[in-house]
Amino acid sequence: MSLQHITDKISVIDVPLSGASRVLGTYLVEGEKTAVIDPGPTSQTLGVLDALQTHGFRELDAVLLSHIHLDHGGGSWKMVEAYPNSFVYCHPRGAAHMIDPSLLKEGAQRLFGDRILEYGTISGVPRDRVMESADGEVIDLGGIVLQVLWTPGHSSHSQSYWEPDSRTVFVGDAVGHVMGEGGPVVPVSPPPHNPLKGVESIDRLIGLSPETLCIAHFGPHGNAVEHLRRIRERSVLWERLSIQAAKEGMDLEGFHALVLEEDDELNRMGKADSPERSLKGGLLGFHRYGKWMQN
Ligand SMILES: [Zn+2]
Repeated sequence: MSLQHITDKISVIDVPLSGASRVLGTYLVEGEKTAVIDPGPTSQTLGVLDALQTHGFRELDAVLLSHIHLDHGGGSWKMVEAYPNSFVYCHPRGAAHMIDPSLLKEGAQRLFGDRILEYGTISGVPRDRVMESADGEVIDLGGIVLQVLWTPGHSSHSQSYWEPDSRTVFVGDAVGHVMGEGGPVVPVSPPPHNPLKGVESIDRLIGLSPETLCIAHFGPHGNAVEHLRRIRERSVLWERLSIQAAKEGMDLEGFHALVLEEDDELNRMGKADSPERSLKGGLLGFHRYGKWMQN
């Protein structure tokens, strides 16, 4: 487990998950009050709590979720149990599922099968500890503020957090994940995925002129606008290819091959270097979207 400073008030906690590090970054924002962004699934949250204890955090005020997928917010119940004065902030569309996670669990089970056992205990957050965020809302931590920006696409309940002083934006999965170590950022699209909303959200993020992009899977990236422009291009390309794949009746394998062929950067990396599972997982929602657009 490691805690690394990004600025004097922002750090990233990396807790290895099933032996692998750099899976999901939990960001820590410190003003007079303290917030964490995406405590991860319960198995990771235990490590985050350890890191907070080790670094002397007696109080925690806010558990901010980029969205409610279990690999980001599944351990929220454990955070509010450990810190009785903290609240969980999430998009209103996600609030009911934080209180009763049974549908989330079913969905994750369908997508990941037994791999969700790696997440640890799945449990609900008490109703009175869940705060529904409004778009544009400012969370004042004293000496540092975070503004909520709804950024749907990856999910309908995705929201980013904008820190204007250091021009840092925490995007969760709204723009995708980093492929391999330092590879390109590729969209990740568990169904239902809406690529058009995803591109609108990327435009909204570009509009902030951010300097640092904090991606959940994984890490802070400088040159944020340049990254976002590249991700936008890729999202538009994949959307177009998903429609083409549906027209030509391609299955997921076929669509996967088409993307590898048409996406120059992935093509250059070569098939051998592309972590297949993560790329295909990223394509599933695009593939379904293409088929849905056909009907
Ligand atoms: Zn997600």
